[in-house]
Amino acid sequence: MPLWTLRPLRRPQAVFAAIAVVLAGSLAALTWRVVEQDRAIDAQRRGDELARSASAIETALVQLRSRVEERLELAVAGGGPAADTIAGLASAEAAAVVFDGGTIAVTPKGAVLYVPDAEYARSAGDDRFETGERHEFQDGDFAAAAAFYRAAAAASEPARRGGALLRLGRVQIKANARREALATYQELIALGPMPIEGIPADLLGREARLDVLRALGRDDERAREASELARDLESGAWQLPRSTYLFYRDRIGVTNRPGGSAAFAAALEGAWREWRRRATDDRFRLATTIDGNSDPTLVFARGTRQRLAVLLATPAWLRSQLSATLTSLSSGFVEVALADDKGGRILGGRDPQPGTARIERAVPALGWTIAVTSAVPPEVRDQQTARRRLLFASSLLAIGLVLLASYAVGRSIARELAVARLQADFVAAVSHEFRTPLSSLRQLTELLSDGRVSDDARRTVYYQRLQRETERLQRLVEGLLDFNRIEAGAHEFRFDTFDAAEFLGDLARDFTEEAESRAHRLDGRIPPARVIVRADREALGRAVWNLLDNAVKYSPNGTAVSLTLAETDGSVRIVVQDDGLGIPSDQQSRIFQKFVRAPGHSGIRGTGLGLTMALAIARGHGGDITVSSEVDRGSVFTLTLPAVAQPGIADVAVRARVS
Ligand code: ADP
Repeated sequence: MPLWTLRPLRRPQAVFAAIAVVLAGSLAALTWRVVEQDRAIDAQRRGDELARSASAIETALVQLRSRVEERLELAVAGGGPAADTIAGLASAEAAAVVFDGGTIAVTPKGAVLYVPDAEYARSAGDDRFETGERHEFQDGDFAAAAAFYRAAAAASEPARRGGALLRLGRVQIKANARREALATYQELIALGPMPIEGIPADLLGREARLDVLRALGRDDERAREASELARDLESGAWQLPRSTYLFYRDRIGVTNRPGGSAAFAAALEGAWREWRRRATDDRFRLATTIDGNSDPTLVFARGTRQRLAVLLATPAWLRSQLSATLTSLSSGFVEVALADDKGGRILGGRDPQPGTARIERAVPALGWTIAVTSAVPPEVRDQQTARRRLLFASSLLAIGLVLLASYAVGRSIARELAVARLQADFVAAVSHEFRTPLSSLRQLTELLSDGRVSDDARRTVYYQRLQRETERLQRLVEGLLDFNRIEAGAHEFRFDTFDAAEFLGDLARDFTEEAESRAHRLDGRIPPARVIVRADREALGRAVWNLLDNAVKYSPNGTAVSLTLAETDGSVRIVVQDDGLGIPSDQQSRIFQKFVRAPGHSGIRGTGLGLTMALAIARGHGGDITVSSEVDRGSVFTLTLPAVAQPGIADVAVRARVS
């Protein structure tokens, strides 16, 4: 019976399988939890890092604001060159502006495209040119007017000179003396940005020249001068009030959008208006952002009733002020975004990438919000992945080992149980083997001792049966003892050189007597020639007897059994063939193991030891036993022994073992 079909073995295997599955499942669950925890720790670490980063930025922002306000405070309180006080904070990306009474100081120069209108100091009309203007407008005497203005233009005071040159140019145009007018305006330009009735002299001169050049048809020259003038106007160098700036822009025909300093100008105007609105406030204070067309402008301002100090800055300035803090944040994988109270973006603010962590924090001192995002650096992500893979792999290995170990233990237990079962079967079989001859012996002895058999002939038959049963019992006991000895390696073969043909002939005769009683025919094919072998007679006899006995036992229909002896190629073959039950092919190699019996043969008496012993004997002689069989067709067992060419070789004792 194959091991795996033994019923009682199923349960321990199932128990082991269940334990293995529970263990493996627990291991898998444990691994999963460890990985989850690992992830949670990573997330926690990143969260901490983000919080640290946000705090660092908040601190830097608050410090920056105090620094700015300190400077603004100084500028407002200190008087003197106040703009310079804030200038330390100004850079290409920032501007400091101080309003003090009627003056405006901008650092750096041209940083704002225009200034708020009302603050620009306007001078009243100049009545020193009354005489000339009377000639010009009332009398229409341009020559007299020109002479007057020309004389006035010789004055040493620049403002008077400028006013005279402006009027001279005008009257020269009226008098159709355009070329002279051009020269006059050139003189005016030479006076530089000195204001004439609030407008820089050079701006007045350059703008006036454009009209004259057009009237003269000198278009190329005009175009060149116009573009130069537009460039200078857009540079903010003249610090014009807003309406004047717009007027000249229009006059020159500038159509493109105002440049970068327009944003500062607009922001400045906003702050200035707010300051004016709260004109009675002696502690005016402002920190805000003003949205331009693209980037917002940061505005910090402090003011008293008389003075206002403003710092205008771009987000780039803020970034540069915070750069030390920003670069200190972990390896560039942290991104910082700042939004103002209206949600406008001041810094950064790209939408977070997937897989990034993000926190937001309000900065109440400024009304801003900091958002910090951090992406996991690739090398860190690789490390994490590698760590988790390692964990999974080792857990898989552990699970595999658990399953393997459970399988091995389960299997060996199943084997032990199978062996125990085989042994139990063996004990039952042996008991049965003993019981049959023993009960025959008892019956015969009882019959004979009671003197109930009076017929001499019958008595002789009974005695012969008594003898046969005794011999069978003896064979059984000796067989078991021999088996024990052979298994323990303690059996010594007594080798003898003899003629196998004669030996087998005798054995066949002895066996026929028994076989006949079971209605079997033994077909002996023993060659007449001598076949010399070197063997232990008794052991060889037991082995061949076993084969013959099996052939008879497993041929229940009484079919013929043949015993053949042949010598070929230096080996002697003793072949026992039957036409009986046969052996399934998957059992043919197993039947040589002790206690193993082919399935379906359990109804036939047997111990499962005969073949084991026969094989041990054959191997002990340097030979072997092979089987070829087909179910319901019969079996052929071939016992091979080495042939001995020369008789008379010395007998040697050889130890044999059941393999
Ligand atoms: P047993 O005492 O059971 O015959 P053996 O060791 O002699 O023990 O044989 C082992 C098993 O091999 C047998 O139980 C039987 O199933 C099978 N077997 C041996 N010889 C034959 C045969 N000639 N025909 C069919 N089956 C055989």
